Amino acid sequence: TMSCLTAIDAGDGLNAFVHKTPELALEQARAADLRLKAGDAPAMCGIPLGIKDLFCTKGVPSQAASNILKGFKPEYESTVTAKLFDAGAVMLGKLNMDEFAMGSSNETSCYGNAVNPWQRKGSNVQLTPGGSSGGSAAAVAADLCLGATGTDTGGSIRQPAAFTGIVGIKPTYGRVSRWGIVAFASSLDQAGPMTKSVRDAAIMLGAMCGHDPKDSTSADLAVPDFEAALTGDVRGKVIGIPREYRMDGMPAEIEALWQTGIEMMRDAGAVVRDISLPHTKYALPAYYVIAPAEASSNLARYDGVRYGHRAKLTAGDGITEMYEKTRAEGFGPEVQRRIMVGTYVLSAGFYDAYYNRARKVRALIKRDFEAVFADGVDAILTPATPSAAFGLGEMSDADPIQMYLNDVFTVTVNLAGLPGIAVPVGLDQQGLPLGLQLIGRPWDEAGLLNHAHVLE
Ligand code: GLN
Repeated sequence: TMSCLTAIDAGDGLNAFVHKTPELALEQARAADLRLKAGDAPAMCGIPLGIKDLFCTKGVPSQAASNILKGFKPEYESTVTAKLFDAGAVMLGKLNMDEFAMGSSNETSCYGNAVNPWQRKGSNVQLTPGGSSGGSAAAVAADLCLGATGTDTGGSIRQPAAFTGIVGIKPTYGRVSRWGIVAFASSLDQAGPMTKSVRDAAIMLGAMCGHDPKDSTSADLAVPDFEAALTGDVRGKVIGIPREYRMDGMPAEIEALWQTGIEMMRDAGAVVRDISLPHTKYALPAYYVIAPAEASSNLARYDGVRYGHRAKLTAGDGITEMYEKTRAEGFGPEVQRRIMVGTYVLSAGFYDAYYNRARKVRALIKRDFEAVFADGVDAILTPATPSAAFGLGEMSDADPIQMYLNDVFTVTVNLAGLPGIAVPVGLDQQGLPLGLQLIGRPWDEAGLLNHAHVLE
């Protein structure tokens, strides 16, 4: 804990931690020492972690990187952080992210972006750590902490993990409690660990998940021993390679990386099979209808009364002006765009044409996966991202679609509620990390982690 606290101060330039909690960390570390001395060594005992700012942490600022939650200190602890603390973990502070987890580059944060510790060979151009869990990825990659929590609605654990050369897993929907995590799109959101190795991810996931009566979508299932599942034995397992993920204009390096992964799985004794997920091309548009729709509803609660920021009012302003001014000042441009899109697709005249249509497409996407799993496929191997980390400021604000395209390989997994993991597999010609994604059967995080272990 002491060396991480020193590393965090030295790593301020990365802007990964937006709030540090050194006193709390030392207190938790002392308590962990006492537990160890008493012969009690829970899974995360004394392990220093960073916590994404989306998690409510009792008495500690939890702003979801938004000005509208300025100064908000929850009076309660999210289930995930409470479980991690019960398992002996130490919180070093809160981590940077895109505002309300909306983004793929960490540039929508009210704190300014976090920075990727990696740089292109011979260049000092600053790169994005990805998003929305960009601070989590930067902090783990730069060894400021041993692990971090992330959340993933459409790729926000897996894309930043791939951009920074670390491991990130999005569990099956319902595996990890969402209670106390600021909601973005409730039917898609899942929290998961971001770590340096698959083994660390297995241990940390075990401490994060489990049934929670406070989240009605939390599954009442036993938590497997994920670490014990890491045997490295994948002989006879069937790995599907979906042809629809072979995109036009995919960089040769990504194609080569994918081939490397295929060979690694084959060398380990797995059977590699071409598969088809025919509705893949509709996933991104369906996601960018459903996620904003749910967000527009979830974000209605930020009204200047209950949480955080309230705009200064002038004489004659009523409650409507108070809402309008507060929300105009408090939400950044990307969040405002999502609220507008969301309310539009849910509005009486357009509900069937957009929202209901997207829900039907979602069902078809889920069915595609069910069909290949029923056909004997154990896991699906794809690239995690369409490119390596890009430069900060490189994606233009004028074209949000360009940024949304980052999620092309990851959103299907959220729409289908499946577990997905990103593993670093190699470097590109400029020396930047690249990651592959494995998608598993529902509730088979254990198998997924074991497959990912083979790619390490
Ligand atoms: N980049 C996607 C979005 O902006 C995914 C975000 C996420 O997974 N939280 O919606």
